[in-house]
Amino acid sequence: MTSEIALSPLLIDGEWLATDRVYENINPSDTEEQVGRFHLADAALARRAVAAATLAQPAWADQSPQLRAEVLDRAGSELLARLAELGELLAREEGKTLPEATGEVQRAAQIFKFQAQQALQAEGELYASTRAGLRVEVRHEPVGVVGIITPWNFPIAIPAWKIAPALAYGNTVVFKPAESVPASAWALVDILQRAGLPPGVLNFVPGSGREVGQTLLDDARVRAISFTGSVATGQRVAAACSARQARYQLEMGGKNPLVVLDDADLEIALDCAVQGAFYSTGQRCTASSRLIVTKGIYTKFRDALIARVAALRVGHALDPDTQIGPVVDEAQLAQDLRYIALGREEGARLAVGGELLHRRRPGHYLAPALFVDADNAMRISQEEIFGPVAVLIAADDAEHALALANDTPFGLSAGVCTGSLKLAHHFQRRLQAGMVMVNAPTAGVDHHVPFGGSKASSVGPREQGTQARQFFTQTKTSYIRP
Ligand code: ADP
Repeated sequence: MTSEIALSPLLIDGEWLATDRVYENINPSDTEEQVGRFHLADAALARRAVAAATLAQPAWADQSPQLRAEVLDRAGSELLARLAELGELLAREEGKTLPEATGEVQRAAQIFKFQAQQALQAEGELYASTRAGLRVEVRHEPVGVVGIITPWNFPIAIPAWKIAPALAYGNTVVFKPAESVPASAWALVDILQRAGLPPGVLNFVPGSGREVGQTLLDDARVRAISFTGSVATGQRVAAACSARQARYQLEMGGKNPLVVLDDADLEIALDCAVQGAFYSTGQRCTASSRLIVTKGIYTKFRDALIARVAALRVGHALDPDTQIGPVVDEAQLAQDLRYIALGREEGARLAVGGELLHRRRPGHYLAPALFVDADNAMRISQEEIFGPVAVLIAADDAEHALALANDTPFGLSAGVCTGSLKLAHHFQRRLQAGMVMVNAPTAGVDHHVPFGGSKASSVGPREQGTQARQFFTQTKTSYIRP
């Protein structure tokens, strides 16, 4: 079985390369199944990739933007044509359900098609000068070589939303995916390469964060790092980049509140809570991990939610009946279980779930866990767990709920369920978050509008949509006397 799986190489300077280090990724729905085998880079190869990207960058930036657009658009088309196959691959390696995984691949395709068009937008602005006879030209030029470091929870969409604008605006890329999900990343790189990228424009160096990732952070030729992952690693990225004056963009954790007010539509609020907290196994930085409910609706909401959570079907990611896939790997499962034990010690009541489940195949199956009657000061309410674990917190009234929602170091996404336009507007203005959802789940965003957080969740310009340009270009102001 194992020997039939091909070894996928690295990509440096347009050459596919083998190394003597190999990573075997395992299906979290069936830990006896291997998804793929991958050659891994080391620090020396990461530096070679940076050298190739450095050499390739000026010509890529001078290339016709029409060609850059066509390459990205072709990649988007191939992703769409292979939706079912790539969705299955992603579901097998990450554990999200087939519809979730297919949706993610589709989103990656949409991102490439959208960002392809950005290559052809105006490059800048013209101004009259305050001085007679001069004119001013403001241009948005490529930054140079960009290092892209991504997490495991969206193995194709997050690489897509960083790589697509980086390439569209004339940068070259060294891409290091998360250790545990190289298969989707490899497929994406292969598609882009065959879509017509010149050698060195996109380089693929899977490997450890500590070695390959850190090499990218420390290499002076890498002028920008776009990172999504944990707060601890984000702080390393910030420290390394600021030490050498490179720009950085960080998307890190969340502890996203969903506020349910007394006048909310109960069914909509329950849908938002279940979807936002537990779908994708709660492994989304925008997951609704804190459900804050005002006391007039608390008991009714709590009891209905317990029933909804208990009825969720946990299973193999490819099983059409599955609503919640397995936890991604052993380390994440251990973290989820540690927090479940901690919640009990802290005095929250585990109303449903939290136990390991056995299915037909051996996998990391965890029953979605809901703590009720929790306090916002508890560690389970303050720290990101990144699993199918949510806490329910009672609030006295709308203002109290708002204060609790904002009482967190994070500020990625925040939601409110209410029937009142006035309260909806009030929360929209006052919630401290980069993204606010009214009567909609905190997770689930569009690809053509800005994505990012406030407070400790994000640093740097927003990702996606037209605002991606801010990070992936630098501004040059020229004063010209014709
Ligand atoms: P997660 O909890 O999502 O795995 P991490 O921050 O550990 O978050 O990982 C996100 C990405 O950062 C991964 O690609 C990982 O390999 C990478 N990474 C981890 N440590 C470092 C480091 N010291 N320097 C650069 N990248 C790193």
